[in-house]
Amino acid sequence: MNTFDKQVMHVGEMASGAKLTVPIYTYKCQQDVSTNNVPSVYIQANMHGAEVQGNAVIFQLLELLKYCDIQANITLVPYANPVACNHKNGEYTLGRFDPITGVNWNRMYHFDESAITPFAQLNIESHEDEIKQRFQHLLLSQIEDKLDHNIWGLTTGQRIAYQLQRMAHQADLVLDLHTGPISSKHLYCPEYAQASASLFDIAHTILIPNEFDGAMDEATFCPWWHLQQVYQKLGRHFVMGEGIFAKESFTVELGSQEQIDLAVAHQDALGILSYLQHKGVILKQVQGFRPKNITRYACYLKDYKALYAPMGGMVDYLAEFGKPLPAGEPLARILRMDNYGDGDPLHHVSLDRQVLPILHFASASVNQGTELYKVFSDYFEL
Ligand SMILES: [Zn+2]
Repeated sequence: MNTFDKQVMHVGEMASGAKLTVPIYTYKCQQDVSTNNVPSVYIQANMHGAEVQGNAVIFQLLELLKYCDIQANITLVPYANPVACNHKNGEYTLGRFDPITGVNWNRMYHFDESAITPFAQLNIESHEDEIKQRFQHLLLSQIEDKLDHNIWGLTTGQRIAYQLQRMAHQADLVLDLHTGPISSKHLYCPEYAQASASLFDIAHTILIPNEFDGAMDEATFCPWWHLQQVYQKLGRHFVMGEGIFAKESFTVELGSQEQIDLAVAHQDALGILSYLQHKGVILKQVQGFRPKNITRYACYLKDYKALYAPMGGMVDYLAEFGKPLPAGEPLARILRMDNYGDGDPLHHVSLDRQVLPILHFASASVNQGTELYKVFSDYFEL
C-alpha cells in the first residue's frame, strides 16, 4: 500500500503579509526505498503563469496513481509559482517573467560548477552509494545556504525556485510541466536521455546539450553530468543515465497556454505513467501503460529555430503543427490594411527549406521582430 500526503509550503509573502503557498502531494512507498534502487520522482507544473494544463495533468496523475502499485516516492506540485499563476492583466495571464526584475521565472535555479571538481577529488575512491548520498547532500546544502544563511536575501523568484529545487534534488526523475503559447506538444530532453523520449506520447523532442542556462531541467541533470565528466577526467568511469547517475529531467510542453482540457490531461497522464512504469516506479498493472505507436521527430536545440516577424501587422497563421511544411509554402500571411489601395495589403511569410512547425505566437497582432513561429529546421525520426 502507498501512503498519500498533502502539505502546504510557504514560498514568500506579499506586501500585505499574505502568504504565498504551494501545495505538495506525495505518494510514499511503504517499502524501504533506500535499498530497492527504484528512482524517485518529482513533478511540478505552472512555473509560468499562463501554462496551466500541467495542473490538470497532475490531477489526473493523482487519480490514476490511486490504483497503481508504487515502488518509489512521487512528489507532485501544481501551482508551483503562486505569483505567476495569479498575474493577470485584463483577460490574460502573464507570468513568464517576474514583473519586478524582468527575469524569466524558469531561469532562476541554482548550479555552482566550481564545487564539482573538489567533491570528485575528495571522493575519488568512495563507494558509489556514498558518492550518490554525499553529492546529493552537497547539492541540498548549497540550496539550504541560499535559503537560510544568506545575509543579502533573495529575489521573490529565487526564493520560490530554490524551494522547488530542494525537492527536485531529492528525486532521480524530474518532470517540469509547461506549455507553449499556441503549440503542439513537445519535449525538451537531455541528449544523453534520448532513449527515454520515445516512452512519452509526445511526437516532437528537442534534444538539449548538457549545459546550464538556469532552467529546472538543467539544474537537475547538469550537476550530475558535470560530476560524471570530472570523474572521467580523474580516471573513474561512470555512464551518465545509469547506476548512481540514472538521473533524468525533462521539460514537458503540454500544448497551448491559457487552457486546460481534462480529457487531454488524462492522455498526458497516461503517457507520463508509461515512462514511470518503464523506469520501475510503478509496477505493471493488468493492462499496463504503453507508449503510443506514433511517429516521433527530434531535433537538436541548435536546429530549433525561431522565426521573427519581418514586419508588423495582423497575422493569419497558416502552417499546421507537426506536419512537414515544404520550402516556399507559406507559414503565415500578414495583413496590412494601411497598405490597402496604394500598396500590398498581404504579405506571405515562407522559408527556403522544409521545416516542422511546432508553435506560434499567441496573438494575431504582432510588432516587427515578434517571435512568430518556432520550427524544427533540421530533424529526424526517433
Ligand atoms: Zn514555460
